[in-house]
Amino acid sequence: MARLRPVIAGNWKMNLTREESLALAGQCMKLAEEIRSVSVRVFPGYLVAAEAASLASGSSLEVGAQNCHNESSGAYTGEVSPAQLIDAGVRHILIGHSERRQHFGEGDTLIAAKVKAALKHGLNVTLCVGETIGERDAGKAGAVVATQLKALDGIEQDARLGVDIAYEPVWAIGTGRTATPEQAAEIHSLIRAELDAKRGFAVSRILYGGSVKSDNCEALASKKHVDGFLIGGASLKGEEFAKIVRTSAVVFAAKQ
Ligand code: PEP
Repeated sequence: MARLRPVIAGNWKMNLTREESLALAGQCMKLAEEIRSVSVRVFPGYLVAAEAASLASGSSLEVGAQNCHNESSGAYTGEVSPAQLIDAGVRHILIGHSERRQHFGEGDTLIAAKVKAALKHGLNVTLCVGETIGERDAGKAGAVVATQLKALDGIEQDARLGVDIAYEPVWAIGTGRTATPEQAAEIHSLIRAELDAKRGFAVSRILYGGSVKSDNCEALASKKHVDGFLIGGASLKGEEFAKIVRTSAVVFAAKQ
């Protein structure tokens, strides 16, 4: 089965004002129209996600939220449900980001429940996986990632098409320390094998995340099974993000 277009996604985290977010979304919309060989996706904060999605509707830019609850509605003060996101026009969701796992205690069971709930309501999932430096040093990177991928177990065949995986080694996020292209390629191959073994995830893309910038994206993009990027810090700067998209698009096109 032919794979989908590579994805380059920006995770804006808890950054930017409403005005800054909409301005950056506007720049990303133009970028998405210019570079059609790549899916450009952004994850703004909750408060502007709906407005950004409405701004981007009818364009090629994909807009998502950074988290959701696993229930559709109910007494969960301060939370946002997948149903509410869909109602607000948001179609993509980031689940299992290491900052959610680290700072908010999200474990594999809750993350699996969120994946199922999000897909059930029609959100396309970008599921983040990745090991800590301690796990890597102990030789457990592959095993940790394989365990985190169990969040996909039991998912209905039809829903599987809306899942992308972001491999984000925790030690590379926001640290300026990027995985080498070889380290990324090794784990991406393992993830591809895991997805193939599960059957039904053939079109899922595997993104790399962790201090991706315009000066290291080319080498990473050239590796087999690197189907895109999830970018934090560098996605907040329109010009730098555009440079990454333009540079990587050329490399991805040459790889096919
Ligand atoms: C991220 O937050 O998903 C991320 C990869 O951040 P950064 O690019 O800043 O390392």
